[in-house]
Amino acid sequence: MMIFDIEKIRTDFPILGREVNGRPLVYFDNGATTQKPKQVIDAITRYYADMNSNVHRGVHYLSQISTDAFEVTRRKVQAFIHAKHEHEIIITKGTTEAINIVASCYGRPFIDAGDEIIISAMEHHSNIVPWQMLCDEKGCKLRIIPMNDNGELAIEAYKSLFSERTKLVSFTYVSNALGTVNPVKEMIDIAHEHGVPVLVDGAQAIQHVAIDVQALDVDFFAFSGHKMYGPTGVGVLYGKEELLNKMPPYQGGGDMIKDVTFEKTTYNELPFKFEAGTPNIEAGICLGDAIDYIEGIGLDAIKAYEDELLAYATSRLSEIEGIRFIGTAEQKSSVISFVVDGVHPYDIGVILDKLGIAVRTGHHCAQPVMDAFDIPGTVRVSLAMYNTKEEVDALIEGLKRALNMLL
Ligand code: PMP
Repeated sequence: MMIFDIEKIRTDFPILGREVNGRPLVYFDNGATTQKPKQVIDAITRYYADMNSNVHRGVHYLSQISTDAFEVTRRKVQAFIHAKHEHEIIITKGTTEAINIVASCYGRPFIDAGDEIIISAMEHHSNIVPWQMLCDEKGCKLRIIPMNDNGELAIEAYKSLFSERTKLVSFTYVSNALGTVNPVKEMIDIAHEHGVPVLVDGAQAIQHVAIDVQALDVDFFAFSGHKMYGPTGVGVLYGKEELLNKMPPYQGGGDMIKDVTFEKTTYNELPFKFEAGTPNIEAGICLGDAIDYIEGIGLDAIKAYEDELLAYATSRLSEIEGIRFIGTAEQKSSVISFVVDGVHPYDIGVILDKLGIAVRTGHHCAQPVMDAFDIPGTVRVSLAMYNTKEEVDALIEGLKRALNMLL
């Protein structure tokens, strides 16, 4: 069994040693982006110091080693999410681009006027707007899976949304605004009973929950490197081979072609068909180092630690008078959203920042979630594996001070 050594983990993250506003940094904005361990930071330096060269192009040595390193990441991602084939792993800029690829390259050819796409009431804007853009273009419609007052999706209502016109289902694994963990496997099975493919937005799941795309039988799965201790500017679209093969390319350019003449261009095979132009090479390579880092600790150990911390933080926050948790689902992961009667979330965020504590305030790119709860925004505390109970205690002290000033 792997030992979860929190002291060692914290020393791996140099930024956790710094001060903000004269106080030790307490970083609780991990849902927005996670900090990076020195293993990833060093790999970025190593790439530029030793290897920098374009990929998939040159015969020269540097191009070969950077291409090899980039392709090693693809295989690490394949193993990490248990994909059947490495060419089912498309390297993207992030979750947003991954979802947009599916909206463009699956949506445009296979979804027509009058057809329906099911999404949920708790989506991040990046899993709403690409579908709305498709609907505007093609005349298709969005159907929304409602949620209850705890922020859990209504599965019976979901079942009743299907019709012959349903062409795609897309929903998040974990809500970035509420922390709800959705019953993903059950929801995928329901869609498949109707013969409908499913995209799962894994942006808030990949760093907390072990993913097996084959066991889930999910058709498309999207996530970002920067939320899993890796660099920004890189992410992944997993797609089942048969679906990706029948989809046209996303963008035209270098790398995605087989042959180009002015009369006709033939396209490259998977995965390169979807990877036009020079990718973020350094980020692509170092995403592999982030995966190594997570695997060196073990997602099961990470999840057990984070679940305990979530329970502790929830219980300590309950001490605060006038607090109202937004999102009280039975299955939650690493996110606590709340409001306090009579106080604007922004004001809490500003005072906590003065105390060196970073939280997110606002609508968290999920405005419809805020509308559903009839609030403008929340304070969001989102946890990562390096957070501690002592940091939660500092948050509680900070919050009490902030509320003393504001109320
Ligand atoms: N989906 C969810 C659930 C998210 O939390 C985020 C990031 N906040 C995204 C999608 C978009 O990710 P990115 O900005 O990295 O593309």
